[in-house]
Parts: sequence; C-alpha cells; structure tokens
Amino acid sequence: MTIYTGPVFEMAKRQFSVVADHLQIPEDERDRLLYPKRAITVTIPIHTDDGRTRVFEGYRVQHHLTLGPTKGGTRFAENLNIGEVGALAIWMSWKCALAGLPYGGAKGGVACNPYSLSMRELEAVSRRYMQEMIPFVGPHTDIMAPDMGTNEQVMAWFMDTYSMHQGHAVSEIVTGKPIAVGGTLGRREATGRGIAFLVARAAEKLKLDLGRSSAIVQGFGNVGSISAITLARRYGMTITGLSDHTAAFYDPAGLPLDEIEAYVAAHRVLAGWSKESAIDPNDLLIQTCDVLVPAAVEQVITERNAGRLQCRILAEGANGPTTPEADTILDQRRDEIFVIPDILCNSGGVIVSYFEWVQDLQQLFWTETEVNAKLEKLLDMAFTQVAERAAADGISNRNAAMAIGVGKVRAGKQLRGLFP
Ligand code: NAD
Repeated sequence: MTIYTGPVFEMAKRQFSVVADHLQIPEDERDRLLYPKRAITVTIPIHTDDGRTRVFEGYRVQHHLTLGPTKGGTRFAENLNIGEVGALAIWMSWKCALAGLPYGGAKGGVACNPYSLSMRELEAVSRRYMQEMIPFVGPHTDIMAPDMGTNEQVMAWFMDTYSMHQGHAVSEIVTGKPIAVGGTLGRREATGRGIAFLVARAAEKLKLDLGRSSAIVQGFGNVGSISAITLARRYGMTITGLSDHTAAFYDPAGLPLDEIEAYVAAHRVLAGWSKESAIDPNDLLIQTCDVLVPAAVEQVITERNAGRLQCRILAEGANGPTTPEADTILDQRRDEIFVIPDILCNSGGVIVSYFEWVQDLQQLFWTETEVNAKLEKLLDMAFTQVAERAAADGISNRNAAMAIGVGKVRAGKQLRGLFP
C-alpha cells in the first residue's frame, strides 16, 4: 500500500529497481531506501481577485534525513500530484549524494497554473503554502528552492513568511532567493551553466568541437534559456532549435538567440516570435543536432522517439525527461548517443543552492568567480566518477550515476543503523 502512484513515480521505482539489482541490494532493504520518510499534504485557500475563495492543494515530500536536512524545489504546475512530487524527491536524494552534498532529497509544490494567476494571487498561494509548511521545514530540517513555475520572487515570499513567523530574518530557509535578501551570486544561472559545462566535458571526451556544433533546447524557462545562452556564448555553439509550452522553432542555419531572448523578456513566451521557423513541437527533438537538451518536463523521450533521436550528446536538463522504455533503447545506442543523465546533468542547481545555504548560515558571501569555480570543481568530480563507474561496471551513465548516489545513501543508512 502506498500513496505514491502514477507514471512518474513508477519511473523512479523502476530506475531504482534496476540499480538495486545491479548493486545486489537485498529485497528487504529496498523499501527503506526507496520510499520517502514523510509526505505532507495541505489545502491552500486564497481570495481570488474577483472576490471568491479558491482552494489549491499543496504537497511536500521529504525522502530521507540520513545525511542531513532534506533539500528540494517547489513546483507550481496544474496537474501536480503526490506521486510526481515523491519521484522528484527521490531523484533529489540520488543527485545530492552523487554531488557529495550533505542532504536528503525533498520536493514540493502546489497544483495550480501559475501563469493564470495574477501577481497578487501568486503571492497569496506562495505565502499560504509556506505558512502551512512552517511546522515541517527549517534550515536544519528541510530547505526549499525554486522549480518549474516558481522563481526568485516566490522564494522571497517564502523567506518572508517563514521569517515573520520566527521574528527575525531566516534567509537560510530557502535557496534561489534574490541576492538582495541573502541569495548567492550565480544561483539563477547555475543549472544552465552546469549543463553547458558538462556538455563541454562530454564533448572533450568524445572529441567533438563545440564551436562547430549545434544544439536543440526544449524549454525556455530558467534552465533551458541559460543552457542555450551559455552553450552559444561561452562555447560557440549554434542553437538550431528552441521550444516552450507555446511554440517550437527550428532553423538548421541557427536561431537568433539575442532576438528571441528580447522577445521572451517582453512577451513571457515564444509564441508569436516567427512563422517561418515554426515546427511541430513533437518533431523538434528528432531533428539532427550534436547536442539535445530537454529542459522542460518529464517523459518527453519515450519508446516512440528514442530510436529516432539524431544527437551525439543527450544532456538531460529536466528531471526525468527519459522514460525507462526509452532508456532501454538509448542503452542499445550507447555508442551513438552519450547520455548525461538528469541527476548529474542538472545538479548545478542544487550544488549552488548548497553554496547559498552555506553562505547564509555563515553570513559570509562569495564572489561569482568563487561560486562558479567551486561549481565546476564539483561537477567535474561527479562527471569523472560517473564516466569511470560506467566503464568499470559496463553500465549506462544513468545507472552509474544512480549506483553512486544510491550507494552513498545506503552506506549512510547502514552506518547509522535502524532506530530504535
Ligand atoms: P521554468 O518554469 O523556468 O521553465 C519551464 C519551461 O518549460 C518553460 O519555458 C515552459 O514553457 C516550458 N515547457 C513546459 N511544458 C513544455 C512542453 N510540453 N514542451 C516544451 N516546453 C515546455 O522551469 P525550470 O526551472 O527551467 O525547470 C525546467 C526543468 O528543469 C524541470 O524539469 C525542473 O525540475 C528541472 N530543474 C530545474 C532546476 C532549477 O534550478 N530551476 C534545477 C534542476 C532541475
């Protein structure tokens, strides 16, 4: 019996089971590692702008508390459910362990469409969500961060709501805050920068010249836009494809990133930018390119398109973009497509969130150069470990990354023992 159901949780469960088999983890140890420690569900009533009362449902899942507090993003998305949140919390655990951070994974969110809310309504949802979570979170218990549909402003409201309750400013309760209220330099860009850095590491390994290579990026929010911009400006790549939930564009000669950035800054979405380069969003991922970066939602690479991908590197910016069925196909195409799995690829976000928490606890702030240098050092170590483990065990990069993450959590649990 479990409250965690649905395709995304099933995916996390199947991935774990493959790695548990590989690590020969006894059956009776598996549930302890996989199932989250706590799940909290709350109702969030707000006054809407038209004077009605509306109730949203909110969640927070804390996966394990073995190695430190839990850490994870907050997603505002229409069809959010506890199974999806549970899966995202579990992935956070393996991700934090792989990067060597002293955290368990968590995730939370509200089932709402943030784009349909006014600023005042969004603030009401954010504040009431944090208010309901106050008994269950804390700088040494569970630290929140942004995810899809939330941003720095939402984090500032979370921090303010928690701080008002405590009677003093508690900046270390959330990461991904604006710099003016204790955020760190480099956090906003961290996930996308990390993805681009790892693409460059993979390209080095594959002897691919990024200056002569192309990339397609799905999603033009925080992660997608910064990935595209960094791949283009720092590594000289040509961005041939871009999409968001409203439109997809493709031009083999390259898309004008500056122009698109300015358009999205003015209109919030890609829709309406161009008619000539428009492409069916379903076809975007199967266009020829050197680097493909899914940076939007889960389960976009499936058994239907995995065999048709035409990229050399698949850099998983989103969490869970590849289904287990697609993974089996990609495993057979291991020599053609180098996969940078999500728990490695997008770990730049939580790594710099960790730096932000450390700086807030110490009230001692670093320069952006220091932040970026430390970020690259941790990413480089994680990349090397994954590549070595994949080669040593003859397994995919995803299973190697998971084996390292799961192995570290397991070691912590074994050493601490079972209480009482
Ligand atoms: P965001 O809300 O800033 O942006 C999401 C983007 O995806 C938007 O451009 C949206 O239009 C687009 N999108 C939504 N549905 C789509 C669809 N069906 N097809 C194409 N585009 C679609 O969110 P984000 O913070 O950029 O997060 C994106 C992904 O990266 C999520 O999977 C998230 O869990 C993961 N992630 C984010 C961070 C972070 O630091 N923000 C860190 C690690 C992982």
